Amino acid sequence: MLMAEIINGFTGFNRSVQNNPNVEFSHASEDEVPAEETPFDEEQLESIGVKDRRWSWVEVDRSAIQFNVMSTKRLLKPGTRLMAVVKADAYGHGAVEVARAATASGATFLGVATVDEGIQLRKAGLNQPILMLSQPPEEAVPLLLFYQIMPAIYTHEFAIAYAECADSHGLKAPYHLAVNTGMNRIGVRHDRVVEFLRQVSFHRALKLEGCFTHFATADSMETLDWERQMHRFWDAMAAIEQAGMNPGIVHCDNSASIYRYPKTHFDMVRLGIALYGYQPAPDTHRFVELRPAMSVHARITNVMAVPMSEGVSYGMNYRSPGSVKICTVPLGYCDGLTRLLSGKIDFAYQDRAVHQVGNICMDQCMFEVDLRTRAGHRTLDPQVGDEVLIAGPHPSVDCSIETMARRASTIEHEITIGFSHRMPRIYK
Ligand SMILES: *Cc1c(COP(=O)(O)O)cnc(C)c1O
Repeated sequence: MLMAEIINGFTGFNRSVQNNPNVEFSHASEDEVPAEETPFDEEQLESIGVKDRRWSWVEVDRSAIQFNVMSTKRLLKPGTRLMAVVKADAYGHGAVEVARAATASGATFLGVATVDEGIQLRKAGLNQPILMLSQPPEEAVPLLLFYQIMPAIYTHEFAIAYAECADSHGLKAPYHLAVNTGMNRIGVRHDRVVEFLRQVSFHRALKLEGCFTHFATADSMETLDWERQMHRFWDAMAAIEQAGMNPGIVHCDNSASIYRYPKTHFDMVRLGIALYGYQPAPDTHRFVELRPAMSVHARITNVMAVPMSEGVSYGMNYRSPGSVKICTVPLGYCDGLTRLLSGKIDFAYQDRAVHQVGNICMDQCMFEVDLRTRAGHRTLDPQVGDEVLIAGPHPSVDCSIETMARRASTIEHEITIGFSHRMPRIYK
């Protein structure tokens, strides 16, 4: 018998039948879940909590968000506005919850990256001014006007489309002018802003509410590029005023620039990564205390004594030294624990550092608990259901998101955003 026949014999699965268009492939009715007549009450099923459905979740500490807003606000002159940048679902923390916490403690402006992010905030009842930090397709203009989301504008075509749509509905078209001072991502060139404003200002609906630029190197110890951008922005704002126009709310500082260059706070600062508790540059801890808001948790789903030299996980590039228990937790690279970090991070289990071992799988990964007795250490006895801190602040174990970012050669932004929504957000 051929191997294929043996396999088909085992599974009852016959490819030649399945692939034959003349044979109607009947779905195996006995395998299907009956649609009705369930003994379960659906409402009771709904009430099974998210943490009881899968043992991995993300906690977000609202008081840390509020602490970071207040620590930053203390460094601003009275009257300087603070924008909470809540784009990308508040860097993975949950835009609505973060916007509520931030505005409750002093943020008066919200920054988003997309039209839909702005709409989400409006639908949740947030009524602060919202600035979209780029320019959407013209087709989205009615959404901007209806939901009162201000765009950052840098092309004539968009400015006119926005103004005409507003005017035809008897509305104003407020916007912030994006100025390119050297990052070369978006914006009107710094030496063309007056020309740009003159070209669009004929339109009565358009209303310049603010002007901003964005620094490419605010976190760098080399200050020359930052200074060049700052001077270009300064000159552009002066040129607007000299031309008899009002630039409105002038802003340029992102997190790193807020703490490192207080002289450019101007009328508003844009707080992003520091809102979530991460130091935006190597030297900023000298100027501000921040508290990370996010932590990732899991419960052990399996505990095994793996004999010496047996492998663990895909590729088996970790081999058991014998004196360990291997514990499994139900999160993997689909959840944002990037595979790049396989074997390179520690978790905190009962206040001790435990090494993640073997390749991180899509939905699960493993860590080892050393069973050898050592002076001053009690031996751990891991059990299914025990809680593990996967990432986040801990007083003695280095399992921080900063460390994860460093070991993955990236920045904290990408790590926090990477924790997928398959893991529920729990707010404290
Ligand atoms: C994302 C973003 C910010 C926030 O930057 P952080 O470095 O996270 O503080 C500020 N301004 C603009 C234009 C942005 O795109």
